[in-house]
Amino acid sequence: MSSSPATLPLRPTTLRAPEGINRLFSAGWDADWQRHQHRFGPLPELVNQQALLAELTESGLTGRGGAAFASWKKFSAVLTATERGGPTVSPVVVGNAAEGEPLSVKDRALLRHAPHLVIDGLLLAARMLGTSTVYLALGFEEPAVMEALASRPDGRSIEVVRIPEQFISGEASALLNFIQTGRALPRTQSERLSSSGLRRRPTLVHNIESLAQFALIARYGGAWFRAVGAPDDPGTRLVSISDGVRPAFAVEVPGGAPLAELLVGQGVELDSIGAVLLGGYHGSWVSAESLRETSLGGQSAGAYPAGAGVLWVLRRGQCGLDASAQIMDYLAGQSAKQCGPCRFGLPSAAEAFHHVVVGDRAALTELQGLLDLLPGRGACHHPDGSAAFLASSLNAFSEDLDAHLAGRCLADAR
Ligand code: SF4
Repeated sequence: MSSSPATLPLRPTTLRAPEGINRLFSAGWDADWQRHQHRFGPLPELVNQQALLAELTESGLTGRGGAAFASWKKFSAVLTATERGGPTVSPVVVGNAAEGEPLSVKDRALLRHAPHLVIDGLLLAARMLGTSTVYLALGFEEPAVMEALASRPDGRSIEVVRIPEQFISGEASALLNFIQTGRALPRTQSERLSSSGLRRRPTLVHNIESLAQFALIARYGGAWFRAVGAPDDPGTRLVSISDGVRPAFAVEVPGGAPLAELLVGQGVELDSIGAVLLGGYHGSWVSAESLRETSLGGQSAGAYPAGAGVLWVLRRGQCGLDASAQIMDYLAGQSAKQCGPCRFGLPSAAEAFHHVVVGDRAALTELQGLLDLLPGRGACHHPDGSAAFLASSLNAFSEDLDAHLAGRCLADAR
């Protein structure tokens, strides 16, 4: 840990910090409360709030739910809003395990196999922000986390909320709306959740992997976190891999990991790949030819945003345009249709995409026009993310596009 003894944010642990990239599961797969404590020690006592914030800042941890917002800024904004509100204002902490992204399994894996680290992160966040109002929002059933909560004396202070399994349920304002009103709709108001979130209280909504990473940073410090990964994408992250052969699985990888190396390390042969979708249904396609120059996370040349850490492998012989059209169908169906782009734009784009796949040139013109109309007009970023995915599909599969407009499909020949 980099802090001097006078400013240690937590009572120091004498237990050895995890080495290498096996961090989140280093207590052992399915570690129970005893084994978890044996590995990481008991939940540490907070000694110095500002020093813990400094460790978090030094760590460079970013949100692991998709937006990659700096974690320390989220905590800092809630602290500032709470202070500004005066002594009667108490903040709220919400762990986001909506995992509405259909290709993501990493939050489930974390809650199933290392639930105590997530619980530690939630409780430490509450301790740091000075609140006892803590929620864990689940988009799926996970008995392991319920058992973990019941097995520890501090588990009762966390309220578990089961939210609908929808793509947009994990959007922070939709999630808070569901807790408050029972409807998982994104808010249209412009006020930040950090100052006016759940029942107008300052609210921290953080992905559960981010909270688990926070629990490790609180114990071992920011410099320890940065010891692996890339300077501009430090630490580790969980990624969900769907390779079309095995059921989707989650692995922990270093930040800024070279994509080709990552896939080969997980048993995916590069020759079998047609393209890879990075970041999920709001993500970007990477062609097979670009795999070796691509890394996951960071800002170097060839780096792609890791998003929610999703990798979907399209095999040779599969048509990227057809796969993209199906994803657009899904995205068009995933909204409450309370804003124009979702009521009209996305369904039109999905329909036009199918016409393009069967060679309709006029539909391509319509689709390209919609690309400009979708972004920046919804209450949330769903239309923007969908438009970005659409643009990436047309760009990555431009040769396929020409072939389809000429009445052929290149996938058959690959
Ligand atoms: S933009 Fe779409 S998903 Fe977002 S709030 Fe409006 S209708 Fe719902």
